[in-house]
Amino acid sequence: MTIQRILAPNPGIYTGPGTNTYLVADGGEVAVIDPGPVIESHLVAIVRAVTGRSPVAVIVTHTHPDHAPLANPLARRLGVPVYGYEPGPEFDPDIRLADGGIVAVGGAFIEAVHTPGHTRDHLCFRLGDRLFTGDHIMGGSTVVMEDATAYMESLYRVRDLDVKRIEPGHGPAMDDAGAVIDGYIDHRRAREAEILDAVRAGAATIADVVDIVYDFVPAGLRDAATHQVIVQMHKLYADGQVRFPAGAVGPSTMVELNAR
Ligand SMILES: [Zn+2]
Repeated sequence: MTIQRILAPNPGIYTGPGTNTYLVADGGEVAVIDPGPVIESHLVAIVRAVTGRSPVAVIVTHTHPDHAPLANPLARRLGVPVYGYEPGPEFDPDIRLADGGIVAVGGAFIEAVHTPGHTRDHLCFRLGDRLFTGDHIMGGSTVVMEDATAYMESLYRVRDLDVKRIEPGHGPAMDDAGAVIDGYIDHRRAREAEILDAVRAGAATIADVVDIVYDFVPAGLRDAATHQVIVQMHKLYADGQVRFPAGAVGPSTMVELNAR
């Protein structure tokens, strides 16, 4: 069994060096994980790397624009089905993979692990003692969440898989997977504690909390930091720690500790 990484030429503030496209090959067959965005040179690079083997599947971790849009065009080109959790923007899977779903490549088995949090449709893929983590765990940065409660549960979930090596959607592969995942869990808990401390210290609005907790982020990432605080605040609300008025939550939303 061999694993090959092809870097898509889409570096950026959220994509690091670019999207990692993976080829998993075994017994003359090959599957492609996360083809990435629609970029002709990247399509050509993937097709060239597949040549000489029998393609069997194109698989997608989640439907963000830097991971999924090339999946359907590539699969048409290779004449194979597309696998994913559910349809999304510019993505329409032929076969839906639920938690525990298997894609066979030669004698190897790629197992889907549903890991909602970054997005609700996010899958990681286990292959032996490796885990392809998409944007659930990234090399060299933290992850933007849609749902902090689900995200934490999914971190515990992948920690319990006890894999050895992480192949992320962006950045370098990481050995010592357990320590990496524990680091993510510790980081999220620390951020949550900082947010709670900021409210306790008198931050009255979401924007005040962002000023305190994310004072180090450059202006270009301020919106992402605000989003992150809002998502985390919803978790703290669900946990009974804070309260804020019903309705849309934005930078000016007033927050306070939930005195109990
Ligand atoms: Zn993503």
